Amino acid sequence: MHFDVIVIGGGSIGLATAYELGKSNAKTLVLEQYAFLNQKGSSAGQSRQFRIPYPEDYMVHMAVEALPCWRTLESSTGRSLLQTVGTLWFGDPGVHSTEGNIAGAKEALKKEKVAFSPLSSGDVESKFNFTNLPGPYEGLYQADGASIDLALTLELLLKLNRESPSVSLEENSPVLKIDNTPNSPIKVYTKQAVYTCDKLVVTPGPYINNILDMLGFQIAVTYWEMSSAYFKKTDPNIDYPTWFVFQNADGENGNQFYGFPESPWDHPGYIRVCPDFVIKPLDSPDHRTDKPNARELSYTTQWIKSHMKGLDPTPAFTSTCLIALSTLSKKELVLDFAPPKIPNHENIIVYGTGWAAKFIPLLGKILMQLAIKGHTDYNIQPFQLGYKYFRVY
Ligand SMILES: Cc1cc2nc3c(=O)[nH]c(=O)nc-3n(C[C@H](O)[C@H](O)[C@H](O)COP(=O)(O)OP(=O)(O)OC[C@H]3O[C@@H](n4cnc5c(N)ncnc54)[C@H](O)[C@@H]3O)c2cc1C
Repeated sequence: MHFDVIVIGGGSIGLATAYELGKSNAKTLVLEQYAFLNQKGSSAGQSRQFRIPYPEDYMVHMAVEALPCWRTLESSTGRSLLQTVGTLWFGDPGVHSTEGNIAGAKEALKKEKVAFSPLSSGDVESKFNFTNLPGPYEGLYQADGASIDLALTLELLLKLNRESPSVSLEENSPVLKIDNTPNSPIKVYTKQAVYTCDKLVVTPGPYINNILDMLGFQIAVTYWEMSSAYFKKTDPNIDYPTWFVFQNADGENGNQFYGFPESPWDHPGYIRVCPDFVIKPLDSPDHRTDKPNARELSYTTQWIKSHMKGLDPTPAFTSTCLIALSTLSKKELVLDFAPPKIPNHENIIVYGTGWAAKFIPLLGKILMQLAIKGHTDYNIQPFQLGYKYFRVY
């Protein structure tokens, strides 16, 4: 069967892309290797942080552009998807993590004219329920930060796609082979069928290089199997915004943490606090264990004991989630056509890596535009790799 566009991967970004393609009446097929709404990709779990602070002004700009896309999705579905509680960043302003850096973020926010409040260590303690912070710590609070109801976002995108006359959805359909012979439609093979398409959008999350291997190139990534935990509230009056602490690496790098407010849709009565590091990155998604790392959780418990009020520091619920992170400097997200040496490269669009839940509806729109028009209204130049960075065989 022939489609205008085939999307490989039915996670949050693939479903958002298909939704936008459906709105443009493009005949679209989404191929998902597991069941839709599976918990095996990077969109597992209930919540994610929406935040605007980034040390790169183009990332701030992109987060600002994503916000109206979220509002449009909320009004199209009649459901609230962002619990707006603000973003709190605090810690050592000189520390750089995969999330960014406080000093750089303050500069980028100023440059992009995004309002925020600078905070001292004492402000963070008096306004946000943290304790025993080192005196030289600094912080910032940005009011648009939110907890994203990720599970509902996926459910609604799936529903909208099911209702679209232009979108077909195939689950339990792993893509096994791609034939991108020049000057002919692209052929995509699953166990059940062979499909053809004019344009291919590749959004397979942590399995990105498995698909790119089929096309003859790769991107440089590392794989993090991230631990996550929920802690029971012992004081019902205490709550937190979405937050992130930047601290110097200690021993096994066990010093970066982030957390969420209590959410009615995510373990009510509990608060999620997570390590933002992994003790041992993986070389392949096949090496995942599905077990939270005990030492990562014990660092988290220690952080809560020392610095957070109103929580029982014993993890009550735990899980893991796998993500591919780009190892290329300043390329958190990879978003581009396949490199020019690859046959049919102008018809193959690749998205992968990075903390992208905050960009779901915006990336859907960008990928749709790239597939349909061959270009996008948004500036994706900072995320493009071209032949320079892709490893072509
Ligand atoms: C613990 C954790 C915390 C995070 N926190 C944040 C945050 O606070 N803020 C933020 O903005 N982002 C965050 N992120 C990142 C964000 O969740 C991801 O960027 C986003 O969910 C990626 O969605 P995706 O659709 O690209 O990938 P996925 O959700 O992984 O979807 C890819 C899909 O492709 C399918 N697939 C793969 N290979 C094949 C194949 N061969 N054939 C068919 N289908 C295939 C997979 O089964 C999967 O369903 C976090 C990620 C993790 C893991």
